[in-house]
Amino acid sequence: MKRTARLSAADKRLIAAARAAIKRRYRDDWQEVGAALRTRSGKIFTGVNLDAYLGRMAVCAEAVALGRAVVDVGDADIETIVAVRHPSPQDKDRRIAVVSPCGACRELIFDYDRNARVIVPDVKSPKIVPIADLLPNKYTRGPQR
Ligand SMILES: [Zn+2]
Repeated sequence: MKRTARLSAADKRLIAAARAAIKRRYRDDWQEVGAALRTRSGKIFTGVNLDAYLGRMAVCAEAVALGRAVVDVGDADIETIVAVRHPSPQDKDRRIAVVSPCGACRELIFDYDRNARVIVPDVKSPKIVPIADLLPNKYTRGPQR
């Protein structure tokens, strides 16, 4: 795979799925991020973040999408994944924009599929990068394999 790729029609549909998920379930301060992942078999799973009064209990949208994939198809792989953020009511920019995965999600995505592609924001329009490019020197419990 090229290190950086342009979005295909399928990738644009994936972004649309993430946007639709958060548009449907947006709740100010509680659900503001949507995510969608596509497995290599072409199935799409969506999620929204679960914020929590106790901040450390919050769960990212990517993790919710992955959890749905694991429950529904078991051996979940991540061909491509994307997250989008819904604007808050006070935001001037009303677009639901692609956002980069947080550090914890980068670890999670890599753990489940080291060949995953991630759609991230770029100067003009989103681009695709391999998860490994977003996570140099990934944490490991033992010696590097
Ligand atoms: Zn995250």
